[in-house]
Amino acid sequence: MKPFVYDYTHEQWKQWMSSHKQAEWRANQMMDWLYVKRVQSFDEMSNLPKTLRAELSEAFHFLPLDVITTQQSKDGTVKFLFGLHDGHAIETVIMRHQYGISVCVTTQVGCRIGCTFCASTLGGLKRNLTSGEIVAQVLKAQRFLDETDERVKSVVVMGSGEPFENYDETIRFIRIINDSRGLNIGQRHITVSTSGVVDNIYRFADEDWQVGLAISLHAPNQELRSNLMPINRRFPLAQLLDACWYYLERTGRRLTFEYALIGGKNDQLEHAHELGKLLQGMNCLVNLIPVNYVPERDYTRTSRNKIFDFKRVLDSYKISTTIRREQGHDIDAACGQLRAKHSQLS
Ligand code: SF4
Repeated sequence: MKPFVYDYTHEQWKQWMSSHKQAEWRANQMMDWLYVKRVQSFDEMSNLPKTLRAELSEAFHFLPLDVITTQQSKDGTVKFLFGLHDGHAIETVIMRHQYGISVCVTTQVGCRIGCTFCASTLGGLKRNLTSGEIVAQVLKAQRFLDETDERVKSVVVMGSGEPFENYDETIRFIRIINDSRGLNIGQRHITVSTSGVVDNIYRFADEDWQVGLAISLHAPNQELRSNLMPINRRFPLAQLLDACWYYLERTGRRLTFEYALIGGKNDQLEHAHELGKLLQGMNCLVNLIPVNYVPERDYTRTSRNKIFDFKRVLDSYKISTTIRREQGHDIDAACGQLRAKHSQLS
């Protein structure tokens, strides 16, 4: 199958151009047409010779995404369900914050990790996305925002799928959106979240860049984490923490731990104390997330007061903690819900 135009980094465009007897600076023109002018066909690339445009359309597919549905929340959150060329569907979310607009992208169709609180994993993994299919999500979001003259400021790789099980495409995606000749999204404005694929946390720490890392932790001990997240049997908590310490020492950056509070499971004060002891001394931020209701899983939400009690315990261990503001409550905001609904209907 032909690659998508968005699959290529600037370096790959340079190589492609020189292998097609073109000057390397043509690669800059490609970046400009694709990511600055954001055209949607080769015909619009008016400063490229016609013969080159014909060669490009022989070699590449242009648009990998169709909009199936768009849901808009009263709080400004927008959730897209996109159709892929092979009939699969994926979700992408635009979120509005005080500090700007972020886009949450998906890296796989479905997921095989099996976290018990997550709708994305219910049908298992269908396939990995290419870097271009991930880039196209940001571009689609940007085109939507173009109508109101707004701009994507940050990108979080926290949608469906485990990015570190699709490592190479995720890394290439980051290089493409970070390129100053293109979308120019700063490395410090990009965060990747992993459920704990330990070997790739080491690789990520060695990438030598400023991209942020978040770990989906969700439990303070081996037994409970294995119950909630089967990946914890493959990569035990102690190994995960070793990798986190390596990341902190190697990068000097702060690490984020995501902790979804699930009523009666991991939200007791004893869990907060265990978590406090586990993370004490680390340069980290704990992000407490009131778990979204997933009809297929019988989980209850933690009350607001209990969330604040949990946070106070972490404060006592001098651990920076935030409580995630809930967004898109009036739409299918939990990751995987919209896609799950769509596949039941189709
Ligand atoms: S939370 Fe992330 S890693 Fe876990 S099953 Fe859902 S999509 Fe996969």
